[in-house]
Amino acid sequence: MQDKVNERIEYAAANHSCSIDLRCCELERLPVALFQLEHLEHLFLRNNCLTSIPPAIAKLKNLKCLHLHANQLVQLPKEIGQLKRLEILNLANNQIRRLPSSLAQASGLRQLDLSGNQLEEIPEALKQLTMLTRLNVDGNSALGIPLELKFDAPSQLLDYYFSIQQQNKMLGEAKLLLVGQGEVGKTSIANRLMSDHFNPNEGKTNGIEIHQWMVGERDGAQLRLNVWDFGGQEIMHATHQFFLTKRSVYLLVVAARAGERDGNLHYWLEMIGLYGGDSPVILVMNKCEETYRDFDENRIRIDYGNRINICGFHYTSCKTGEGFFELSKQIVNNASSLSHVQDLLPINYFSIKSTLEEEASISDIISEDQYIEICKLNKVTDRSEQMRLLRFLHDLGCVLHYDDPDQNFALRDTRILNPEWITSGVYQILNNPDFLRKGDGLISKSELSSVFADDECNSGKSRNDFLVEIMAMYELCFAFPNNTNMLLVPELLSSKEPDIGWGKPGDLPRSTVNFRYHYAVLPHGMIPRLIVRCNHLLTTSPTYWKSGVVLEVEGCRALVRGDHRQGVVHIQIQGENKSRRREALAVIRNNFSAVHQTYGDLRVEAKVPLPRHPLAPPVDYEFLLELERNNTITHHFEKASVYSVSRLLDGVDVRRYDLFMCYNNEDKDAVAGLVARMKQRGIRCWIDDADLTPGREWIVEVGDAITECSAMAIVMGPNGIGKWQSQEIQVALNQKLEGKDMAIIPVLIPGGSLRSLPSKIEFLRTMSIVNFEHGFDIIYSSLHETGDDATSDQIKTSKQMDEMASKIQLEWDKLLRAIEVK
Ligand code: GDP
Ligand code: MG
Repeated sequence: MQDKVNERIEYAAANHSCSIDLRCCELERLPVALFQLEHLEHLFLRNNCLTSIPPAIAKLKNLKCLHLHANQLVQLPKEIGQLKRLEILNLANNQIRRLPSSLAQASGLRQLDLSGNQLEEIPEALKQLTMLTRLNVDGNSALGIPLELKFDAPSQLLDYYFSIQQQNKMLGEAKLLLVGQGEVGKTSIANRLMSDHFNPNEGKTNGIEIHQWMVGERDGAQLRLNVWDFGGQEIMHATHQFFLTKRSVYLLVVAARAGERDGNLHYWLEMIGLYGGDSPVILVMNKCEETYRDFDENRIRIDYGNRINICGFHYTSCKTGEGFFELSKQIVNNASSLSHVQDLLPINYFSIKSTLEEEASISDIISEDQYIEICKLNKVTDRSEQMRLLRFLHDLGCVLHYDDPDQNFALRDTRILNPEWITSGVYQILNNPDFLRKGDGLISKSELSSVFADDECNSGKSRNDFLVEIMAMYELCFAFPNNTNMLLVPELLSSKEPDIGWGKPGDLPRSTVNFRYHYAVLPHGMIPRLIVRCNHLLTTSPTYWKSGVVLEVEGCRALVRGDHRQGVVHIQIQGENKSRRREALAVIRNNFSAVHQTYGDLRVEAKVPLPRHPLAPPVDYEFLLELERNNTITHHFEKASVYSVSRLLDGVDVRRYDLFMCYNNEDKDAVAGLVARMKQRGIRCWIDDADLTPGREWIVEVGDAITECSAMAIVMGPNGIGKWQSQEIQVALNQKLEGKDMAIIPVLIPGGSLRSLPSKIEFLRTMSIVNFEHGFDIIYSSLHETGDDATSDQIKTSKQMDEMASKIQLEWDKLLRAIEVK
């Protein structure tokens, strides 16, 4: 390795190189010869074992980029400041504790990466680096800069850092989220933890209750835990998901009750996996004095350990107090180890935070002006600092604040809301027994006022207006465009599927595009939210229920139907025209994607089921698109049969038949063989033998059939063109003359020829022909049986057979394409 390094240095010296690459060279110190390379502009030294940089570095006066990340550096020489041309200095992932103030003299510095070090402080002189556009100090926990604070410019970061140096305090606050099904004892656990009492008649929690629990931290400091006790009702999942935050401690509670299943455990673990980031999760089995049941700890760790930070399993009884000493200790340990708990915040941030919390608890809604006023009183006057702080308080769960400029709600103007008020308001609407009993999901604004005494609370708006707006933002309701006083709240819809005449979800009518989403867990509230998003696509007399909806998209009708048990959403699109069906699917998929995105990294797969093979595994949608891009016409799917790719993607146009079989009745047996094979490939043939209706006039019937088909196969067999056949061709030609879009496909079958065509249809000779003169397929069985003893002659035959088979396949592709393309 040493030789390689020397060689490179020699080479660079001889060639006056401006760049040298000494990455991953196991260097423990820099060779002296390196400092003779005065032309050097780029020096790459990442992934070595350097513990120091000698002062001689100053000799490299032309250096622009110095990459030193992933070494063992503890400090830098003060001479580094003499590198006046230095623009990029990467020191990430070293062990640096202090920086020399002289670094500020490297005045050309534009990018400085100090992430992943042990920095204890930042020298104030670095404020002089005015050219700096990028400064990364992430992963230096001793600096006490909260990860939640995002800075637009290095100067902002430095200003913030130096302001907290003057006056700061540890945040000492974390969120503890109690989740799980209703009635398992979440509220009772919160009571036991906070005041060590038990109420055998604990009432149902409506929405969310937030309590403050002051606990002593490990090293004696005070820690405030904001305990969020969620009502476990399924109906609230739609709002709860917005409050499941990262950097919180989760208590997931189940009850040791007999007959309890772990289904909900799975659901909540998935939800925490989606929203909780790497928050510590503690699983609690409550009501243990009643009966004993334990967690399948190993299984849970295997299934979720890589996605969820499972910190412990506890067994408690709120009734007897059993298990609470250990549980409480674990919560405090986990909470005080959360990185942001140790973060230092300027002292005035604390007074803004507490004033805001007080205000929100009194008035529920605070306008932006009020907030800015509070900031000013506390000497936070810079606009971007005010907004940054507000986002931080939102992340901490002190207030709710929405600042998306595209958000079409008045919430933009009135940004600060009390989370408890919002959820209990939403809860009361979603749980109102009168609304639920109706089952039609409709609420008029006057009905709403009968639930909540309405009062004007902010900038001329009533509380109910805010409630409606926040529900619309959470995609929980929408107002009908022609009657803005009427709201639809799909969560209030009945679960009963109305009679929509589409058959069972597994039925796959041929005229539809079929599509599915398969979820690890289909979140509750997904379909209601889709209904809200797609409210402009509802049919004139709308059809919807709690887990499904019929939409009108691109002139097609689309049925969306969720199956929570299977974790599948079925989508079926019916329409006359295949490209519009495809567009309709795209529109629906876009809406699903938008809903999916709000669920974080939701695990979902897009699939297409195979008609006629309900038990065969559905096909990956992306795979089908790939086949389509490669111009693959048909594909044989595992455990099913051969399908036309475009039919799976586009569905089949609304017709009963695809191909009119025009043949000589004397070739009937051979044609029957051909028709049987077409059927296997999903082509529906009209064949006079089978499809003529007794009593109808032949010529009328044939005319209708030709009208219905998109293509006509003119079969040329051993017996030449028959009398009726010529007449049928004539009908088709007439229809074409009248403008019908129809393919005429000459098909040669074994024994047939193009030689003696009647003069009227001589034109067939000039057309592309589907040639089955060697048969419709090849049977291999006799060849496979020859086994190892096959003679060279037989092997040759086998090769020829393969060639023949692929030729025949090409003819099939040609036929299928002709029918599709028209
Ligand atoms: P939550 O809906 O999950 O908040 O559950 P609650 O805390 O409201 O408790 C539901 C019911 O179970 C109440 O009647 C409680 O008194 C009761 N309960 C809670 N914990 C225990 C326990 O450990 N043992 C027994 N026997 N009952 C409990
Ligand atoms: Mg409760």
